[in-house]
Amino acid sequence: MQTYRSSWLIDNLARIFISVFVFFAGCATPRQCLTPSERKGILGYEMTVVDRGQSYTVWRSKLVQQMQYDLGLQNLNETAKDLTFTLGYPEIMQGHDDGMMKTHVTIKSPFDGQMIPVLILSSKTTLSDDRADVVLLIHGHHESIDDMTNVKSQMRGLGSQLARAGFVVLAPEIRSFGEFEINHKGHGAYIRKKADGEFLREVLADMFSVTEFAKQRYKNFRSLNVVGHSLGGYIALHFSALNPAIQRTVISGMFFPYACINTNYHHACQHFSQFEEAAEFSDVAGLIAPRKLLVHFGRDDKYYTPAVISIFHRAQRIYEDQGAKDAIVLEVNPGRKHEINPETVLPFLKN
Ligand SMILES: [Zn+2]
Repeated sequence: MQTYRSSWLIDNLARIFISVFVFFAGCATPRQCLTPSERKGILGYEMTVVDRGQSYTVWRSKLVQQMQYDLGLQNLNETAKDLTFTLGYPEIMQGHDDGMMKTHVTIKSPFDGQMIPVLILSSKTTLSDDRADVVLLIHGHHESIDDMTNVKSQMRGLGSQLARAGFVVLAPEIRSFGEFEINHKGHGAYIRKKADGEFLREVLADMFSVTEFAKQRYKNFRSLNVVGHSLGGYIALHFSALNPAIQRTVISGMFFPYACINTNYHHACQHFSQFEEAAEFSDVAGLIAPRKLLVHFGRDDKYYTPAVISIFHRAQRIYEDQGAKDAIVLEVNPGRKHEINPETVLPFLKN
């Protein structure tokens, strides 16, 4: 018995060593995610506007074109107009005796024909309000639209809180998560053979379809806003940069140098390596200026590092140059981890 045990150990020693090494290597944070970012993209704000004196307007237009080209997304607004959708009946939300309603809608993507599930959350009084304040609320990795009303999820029940505060919430399922299954594949299998940027392109096209639905249903909407957590924040940033109709943007738990995003520290669905040479994450945030932008982190979030702060300061510089210093805000909540904070998001959207 003793001999058997020790020979098993010897036979498997190499395997155990490799497993332990891979585990710790996977846990380690890459240098690019920890250290302040100083890399200037060749179409970045510092290189073109600050160093070469190009105007903000010309820079903005060139960078938007480059991003659309790298994503393969041109004529976005035009294509999105051709959508069709199926609207369900409004139901009273279980556990809410204060007139909270939920409605399911399925939007057929005019880009590739996929059916996008969207949950609409509203109060009875805003249900048919043409002049709605609309919030596109985007969940994070491995979450789903079911988490929008769950206070224990990373969304912290923000969906119901926004609806209770009078907003109309449109929560789209990110494709390959939750109800939005494609060809019976889970998220990992769905993106396995995709090139960098391909998943981002598909999801952004889905978001343009959802926004077009909002424009058709709430014809005189008062405001159109986008809030995203983690993967949802990553989508929200690129979406607002490409969509001038968005008035307020909230990005929670996601504000990093591309050199950090394009590593194994972030899942391959977020990799966008072809754009890394052109610009930095802060430049994409700068494309949103002078519109309002809230960057949010929990102080105990393992993703909150000096790299985040440096990217924020670089984005803030672009806002300052546009005379909109106060329109960009970094709010860090003590005692919070990788989760959104309704108490921070609500006042920002109401302001
Ligand atoms: Zn992923």
